Amino acid sequence: MPFVLDSPSSALRRHILTVSNLSKSFGGVRAVSDVSLSLEEGELRCLIGPNGAGKSTLFRLIMGLEKADSGLVSLRDREISQLQPFQRVRLGLSMKYQTTRVFRTLTVAQNVVIAVSPGTKRQELIWWSLNMFGLDALLGAKAGTLSYAQQHWLEVCMALGTNPCMVLMDEPTAGMTPDETAITARFARAVCARGVSILVIEHDMSFVREIDSGITVLHQGSVFREGSVRQIERDPEVQRIYLGEENVGSSV
Ligand code: ADP
Ligand code: MG
Repeated sequence: MPFVLDSPSSALRRHILTVSNLSKSFGGVRAVSDVSLSLEEGELRCLIGPNGAGKSTLFRLIMGLEKADSGLVSLRDREISQLQPFQRVRLGLSMKYQTTRVFRTLTVAQNVVIAVSPGTKRQELIWWSLNMFGLDALLGAKAGTLSYAQQHWLEVCMALGTNPCMVLMDEPTAGMTPDETAITARFARAVCARGVSILVIEHDMSFVREIDSGITVLHQGSVFREGSVRQIERDPEVQRIYLGEENVGSSV
């Protein structure tokens, strides 16, 4: 996809990701229940919700790592619900998992080479990302010797190696310091400014505030609220569903 350096006006924006009435049960547990949401081209959206709300399951359904019981997923105007994960990746979807999956015994450069899809002509995004995180100075280092945050950042860079138009990030700042969290939030905003849409699961409200974009709240498998940071933070019902969460102090 060519980079979109200037955001198109909202009137011209198209939907990049559309999830329609998606449902998934595991035995008696309805993990994702009739979820519909859509993101516009170049949009950055936070997906929040208490533990067990169905956020990671929703991501796996969007990527095709799990098969939905019902519902549809579309990327741009194309319905992709029946496609294999690798086919979705070829169409521009990518994902950063919650746990790091870098190749620890390989160097940063080797990890990057593995991540770049064959035939990907435009690799500016991945090199720009390495530079943003200071990883360009560590190309020869074994990935296993990097700090925890640097390993997550390397994996974010790798997720951009397929030149995606839509990236899913599952709790990219879990376990990071406040400074590292802020760097990650600023990076996400900068990637979006380059025309890549991002849907990010996040618990840390300092990250969500720094991102300062739309929020979708998931609760018990369903979309509970959608709104701005201000609207969501002030919503007593959202505060109520977070009660009892161990992270309630730093959360909504
Ligand atoms: P979140 O990411 O919001 O914390 P998850 O999507 O991981 O939530 O889980 C939602 C619900 O689905 C939870 O009750 C979880 O136990 C259940 N669940 C998720 N994956 C599986 C699975 N593979 N088998 C059985 N239950 C699952
Ligand atoms: Mg999860």
